[in-house]
Amino acid sequence: MTKAVVTLVSDDLLHRKNVAIEVLRLDLIHPVISGNKWFKLKYHIREALQQNKKGILTFGGAWSNHLVATALACAQANLASMGIIRGERPATLSHTLQEVQDYAMQLQFISRPAYANDAAIIPVLQEKYPDYYLVPQGGQSHLGVLGAAEIGRLAQMESYSHICCATGTGTMLAGLVHAALPHQQVIGICSLKIPDNENNSLNSFVKPYASAPKQYKIFYDFHFGGYARKTDELIRFMNSIYQQHELPTDFVYTGKLFFGVMQLVQRDYFQPGSRLLLVHSGGLQGNRSLPAGTLTYL
Ligand SMILES: *Cc1c(COP(=O)(O)O)cnc(C)c1O
Repeated sequence: MTKAVVTLVSDDLLHRKNVAIEVLRLDLIHPVISGNKWFKLKYHIREALQQNKKGILTFGGAWSNHLVATALACAQANLASMGIIRGERPATLSHTLQEVQDYAMQLQFISRPAYANDAAIIPVLQEKYPDYYLVPQGGQSHLGVLGAAEIGRLAQMESYSHICCATGTGTMLAGLVHAALPHQQVIGICSLKIPDNENNSLNSFVKPYASAPKQYKIFYDFHFGGYARKTDELIRFMNSIYQQHELPTDFVYTGKLFFGVMQLVQRDYFQPGSRLLLVHSGGLQGNRSLPAGTLTYL
């Protein structure tokens, strides 16, 4: 794994507001296992090996970054891998599912009625595949958080006032919160459409890792319609930041992160003199689900 690059974003708005943004390019650390997924998997893989498991069983959708990372990380660790996909097997597999099969991941499609919820399906799978170590959806677990906490080792973290990341399950956010210094605030831009309240499952998962309530803040108003939804405005924004800064983003997570943070700058959320680190958590492979020509940089 190569060292991640930190790139500076220079921009008129940032200049005017006296806010500095640097980007931790986890999208560049590995050609396949890019982004945050490797970090979230690290201790799960170690645990599976220690428990002498044959492989790892996990969950994902047709364009899942998590499945791609799991499939290749398992292949490299000499572990088998099995991906559980909700829904019937489609006539043609997505690029992502074809790719994970190339890395020897076995796919199991479970019909939606049978897969009513994780709580119902997990014990069934555990009984059926006792020699597989089960990694929850998105790597969301304490081990996933501990792995994500190591993301900060790739940058000079002390120098930033804010660390900003895209948020799905909140595992990466919790890890960054866990690793944050008292003077820092971690900002999560939620890519799912969920109600903004203290007691939602995302906040309940992240909260125990914070040493003070203000150590982190989740923003819920940059989801663009919900998980994996997008609008023309988001796509235009992604094309423009690529053109301006040569920063490729994905439409599920990092595009919304950059958009949200720039809006917060505009709204004066950050005091003048703030220094932000944005974690580019990868996920570019998911852009393959977009029609050709949508993004200028695909
Ligand atoms: C999975 C993923 C996230 C979300 O991470 P969580 O730990 O689930 O919150 C963010 N960005 C990218 C690119 C991802 O693939």
